[in-house]
Amino acid sequence: MSIDVWKEIDQYFINQLIPNEPDMEDILRKNEAAELPSIDVSATQGKLLSLFIQMKTAKNVLEIGTLGGYSTIWMAKSLPKDGHVTTLEFSPKHAEVAAKNIADAGVKDKVKIVVGPALESLPTLEGQSFDFIFIDADKNNNPHYVMEVLKLSKPGTTILVDNVVRGGKILDSESEDKSITGIRQMFDLLKGNHQLDATAFQTVGSKGHDGFVLAVVK
Ligand code: SAM
Repeated sequence: MSIDVWKEIDQYFINQLIPNEPDMEDILRKNEAAELPSIDVSATQGKLLSLFIQMKTAKNVLEIGTLGGYSTIWMAKSLPKDGHVTTLEFSPKHAEVAAKNIADAGVKDKVKIVVGPALESLPTLEGQSFDFIFIDADKNNNPHYVMEVLKLSKPGTTILVDNVVRGGKILDSESEDKSITGIRQMFDLLKGNHQLDATAFQTVGSKGHDGFVLAVVK
């Protein structure tokens, strides 16, 4: 089966299950106009984030990797009135586009964007604990992110990590691509980690063949 069919199936899911989100499509158009890379989660994945937050009745959410705020907004919109997303972004330009999108989406009061390298921003959040954590930034740092977010977690905190398959490239143990070695190191870390109960699942769709790690803090 080809990516064209996966895209068509994604579109069918969107038509059937997520038909009333034209504002979310608008955000993608604004990101494109601002020349941001088109590496946001897909609409069905955004809805998945929203459903995770509802399932967890999460109030305090952490995201690593904001881009134009597409995933941030999916999550913020599904939070209760007193819910909050802290999102970490390296690029001031991406953060600026995201801030505008977040304001336009009417969730400005629920979102705080922290600009800078996430590994420097994460220690500034110590003392907080998050219910749901979405890791979607530079994949080479994934093992560090998993270790760092454990300090911001409590039993039951759910951690979702995006892009852990990369079209199957993660099978290449000889890869010199830092994204791949980072993802493989993260799996090694998860294998021996007694604080986390984890699985991974593959996805196909408009974003090709990829997958997520899903972990719960014990
Ligand atoms: N979660 C976004 C969405 O679905 O709409 C997509 C995030 S995009 C895949 C990754 C983002 O992580 C980019 O905006 C990039 O600038 C940011 N990033 C890369 N390295 C980073 C770092 N060291 N610290 C924080 N953000 C970083």
